[in-house]
Amino acid sequence: MPAEITQTKYSMVVSGTFLLTPVSCHKERPCGLEKGYCMGRKYCKRLFQGKDPFAGKKSNRLFTKAMRENFAFQYTHCPEYRRLAKAEKIRPEDINGYADLLKLPILPTLLFKHHRIFSIPENQMFIKATSSGTGGVFSKIGFDFESMLYGANMVIQMAKYRHLWSFRPVNYIILGYQPHKSNQTAVTKTALGATFFAPAFHRTFALQYKNGKYEVDLERIIKTLQKYAKMPFPVRFMGFPSYTYFLLKMMEERGIFLKLPPDSMIMLGGGWKQFYKEQVEKEVLYELAERVLGIREDHIVEFFGAVEHPILYCDCKNHHFHVPIYSRVIIRDVHTMKPLGYDKVGLVQLMTPMVAATPVLSIMTDDLGILHRGETCGCGLKSPYFEIIGRVGLKDIKTCAAGAAEFLQGGSKL
Ligand SMILES: [Zn+2]
Repeated sequence: MPAEITQTKYSMVVSGTFLLTPVSCHKERPCGLEKGYCMGRKYCKRLFQGKDPFAGKKSNRLFTKAMRENFAFQYTHCPEYRRLAKAEKIRPEDINGYADLLKLPILPTLLFKHHRIFSIPENQMFIKATSSGTGGVFSKIGFDFESMLYGANMVIQMAKYRHLWSFRPVNYIILGYQPHKSNQTAVTKTALGATFFAPAFHRTFALQYKNGKYEVDLERIIKTLQKYAKMPFPVRFMGFPSYTYFLLKMMEERGIFLKLPPDSMIMLGGGWKQFYKEQVEKEVLYELAERVLGIREDHIVEFFGAVEHPILYCDCKNHHFHVPIYSRVIIRDVHTMKPLGYDKVGLVQLMTPMVAATPVLSIMTDDLGILHRGETCGCGLKSPYFEIIGRVGLKDIKTCAAGAAEFLQGGSKL
């Protein structure tokens, strides 16, 4: 263990709350944070312990403090990030209000695909996760233990909001990857995680690891499903919308229509990825699920998240992703990068103070999205909701990433 970081002792209290007891802070390089809270970020902890995940504007002050706290951490512990912040002439003491958060350096997700940028030594990380990656290029994000605790609290609250917790055993069909040591993707970890909301009587994976690679076997899934349909336990699906759609379509074509036990549910996440050409409207998928499995739309839940922004977005009953207190979504003009406000299409910027180990507090995705006023949804939640409507051409993002990479490598004139 490097001398500059001394042991931190954690004590955990279950039931959704926890205590974090850092024994001592950095000895040689004080980070400027309140003594004893170097790795125990008190505002972030308070934010993630919030009981109302959709408190909206009411959480702005606490969110700002938690972001400033994280910014101070990155500024002190990540030389590459500090170089970038200095280039943009911003220091932790410059963050004094919510509007100041717009000044924080924004790191493009593409940057994490080509550079390994961490703020704590890799051997101190609790877990590392990767994005699914296209063409073998993927982001690698490290998580510290404390961030994982914050994340656990968030998952508890979000799952509570969507009534996903249950003591009743269920049969799970995972329309995604079977976990394997060679697979560190966040989407696989999340899919497995979702099978703990209710105790598993049985789990079946559509993509099984055989002879060094993954193979899809929907035939086997249909047979398993026919067996599950005769059992008294509800069935829960978790996985990619693409495979869910392919499975339902296959069953429909073969005339296999089931009536799954009451309270069966479909959970979707991970996007359409390489199957984007086959993507169908949500309504088409919902209608098919009711016809083929007897699962109604109000029993379909969708998640959104990214390894570079590990916030669990959970849709509302109208299937919109409202922004929870743990994060903020900013839409920026593709050309000028100016924030656009509501109802305008632009690049999606995501902010969260959750992670300390990697400087992902403010990232720019290559997604195009739109932010709507919460009230226009009609579900009762006031916090804004966003829609992802596509991807921007990679060229613009690459230019942006190349500029940032220059600073990170110290090649610029600072
Ligand atoms: Zn809503």
